[in-house]
Amino acid sequence: MSKKIAFIGMGNMGAPMALNLHKAGFEVTVYNRSAEKVLPLKEQGLHTVGSLQDAVMHKDVVITMLSNDAAVKEVITGDEGILDYIEAPTVLVDMSTVSPDTSGELAETAAQMGITMMDAPVSGSVNAAESGNLVILAGGKKEVFESLQDIFEVVGKASYYFGNNGSGSKAKLVINLLLGTTMQGISESLVLAEKFGLERTTVLDMMQQAAVASPFLGFKRNLLLEEQYPAAFSLKHMHKDLGLILGQAREIGSVLPATSAAYQSYSAAMNHNMADMDMAAVFAELLSQSGAKN
Ligand code: NAP
Repeated sequence: MSKKIAFIGMGNMGAPMALNLHKAGFEVTVYNRSAEKVLPLKEQGLHTVGSLQDAVMHKDVVITMLSNDAAVKEVITGDEGILDYIEAPTVLVDMSTVSPDTSGELAETAAQMGITMMDAPVSGSVNAAESGNLVILAGGKKEVFESLQDIFEVVGKASYYFGNNGSGSKAKLVINLLLGTTMQGISESLVLAEKFGLERTTVLDMMQQAAVASPFLGFKRNLLLEEQYPAAFSLKHMHKDLGLILGQAREIGSVLPATSAAYQSYSAAMNHNMADMDMAAVFAELLSQSGAKN
């Protein structure tokens, strides 16, 4: 019999992931704080509920996919936190991007209440979530990681086990350092090209044929050309992740100059009302700083 899953957080990522699990035959119950976001999923046949308690009771697996540390803490251990309603052997899997410390602390609290928890954040954006091509980065007990493969194989194309609770979140920060600084690098190259008076389309064509070509550049190409930034991965989430990375780096004594510079750019973009735009809007911020655009 297929697993009963509660999926909490129907944002840009959670909604397509939950839908794929439903299509794969899992019994999926979804909950979102803002109730209207579950309506499209209800139309697609998923079971929707109006409270966290109703979502998580009598499930095999509870998945959370939420904005940030504060959201995950509130949903798991807050006043109406789900840990009060979950009973073993239900497994709790947080797929949000949060600090490794938060992942470790929540897992410890859950363990004290007899619940097994795993951090399993994902690499890949909305297109990968929709097509089931995410990469899952997991921390927790190895046997739990193995028992979740049927779920991970539906939402993702690969899953990697990194070790104890918090290790998945550490791996996620490692990959997002590369993502955030890559976007900063692409943007700086394009700003230089703009100031040189080079044609943007041709510059992007060149980049996509050069050794630095990447699928990521392809995903962001149209946003950069059209200077329209509907969010797949919102700038506020990348800003949050770079903040988490720098916080961890300070703790463990890691020197990350390019990450610090990128963080400043994303912070400036946040101050210019770009929080809910795609992370690629950092290009607009740098264009503006260089006087290449009014
Ligand atoms: P999103 O579209 O902003 O959705 C965030 C979700 O969190 C919404 O369902 C929101 O509910 C919920 N939420 C926020 N605060 C809450 C609270 N206090 N209590 C209950 N629910 C709360 O974010 P997303 O793009 O899906 O990203 C989710 C996570 O995945 C983030 O940690 C992000 O960094 C990570 N991630 C994102 C991408 C990407 O490309 N988008 C890729 C990889 C990883 P409401 O609807 O009520 O606000």
